[in-house]
Amino acid sequence: MLNDTRLLTPSHLLYRALQYPAINGQEKFSEPILCPLCGIETWEGVKWKVTPRFSDLDLFAEKENIKFLCPACYFTLNHILDLHKPYLLNPEGLHILQFDDQTEKKVKLGKVKKVSRYYLMDFLLNSPTHEPWVLMLQSKMNPQHSLIRAKVNFGYSDTLWVSDGTTPHAIPREGLESLFDCLIKVKKSTGLYPYLYLDEPPRKEHKEYELWLELEPILSKHRHAHYLSFVYERIIPPEKYMVEKEKGVDLHD
Ligand SMILES: [Zn+2]
Repeated sequence: MLNDTRLLTPSHLLYRALQYPAINGQEKFSEPILCPLCGIETWEGVKWKVTPRFSDLDLFAEKENIKFLCPACYFTLNHILDLHKPYLLNPEGLHILQFDDQTEKKVKLGKVKKVSRYYLMDFLLNSPTHEPWVLMLQSKMNPQHSLIRAKVNFGYSDTLWVSDGTTPHAIPREGLESLFDCLIKVKKSTGLYPYLYLDEPPRKEHKEYELWLELEPILSKHRHAHYLSFVYERIIPPEKYMVEKEKGVDLHD
């Protein structure tokens, strides 16, 4: 049960996760207005004007006469830099992900959560259904309004939404474990990468032909899906990382 459905909206989930930080210039209205960004009714707002530099008006539910934003949307728009990080967002907090082969992160918003590169796979295989969450990864250099475009996961749905910046990827829950196993084997292989996307089989003399035969029934189910390259590149750990972990090498040194 979700007792506050606003938490299904990314900005409101963030605002709750950070325990409703007060904002300078926050006003109380005598009657509620609809926030032009999220479209949710609010009794409080912060003055906001579309500046000429603001190019993301398509984010808004309402495009004209924008005078106020709800505190959650105002807060989110104002922290575009602090949100340009990989994170897990849920009602308990904003957990900035720091992988164990990365240097220490300093964050202004939320708390650092140190995890292995296997964390993303493990999380998706056991993702919570009782609370809303957003999983955000970033591959672009420039900060964008990525959280506002993210989709909030909640309940037991067929699809897990994971964002790469402003692009949310819809990953199917069914068959995910076998897809992950399969992609790990491709990543550790020496010559099967092209067959991730190729419909044609390798030649019988290919030294990994047997492995391809094993993986192809799974690969063929996902081959032309939009999420395949994202899962392969961003969710499956880097090959070097997996090999060194198996050898027990401490990746910090
Ligand atoms: Zn709003």
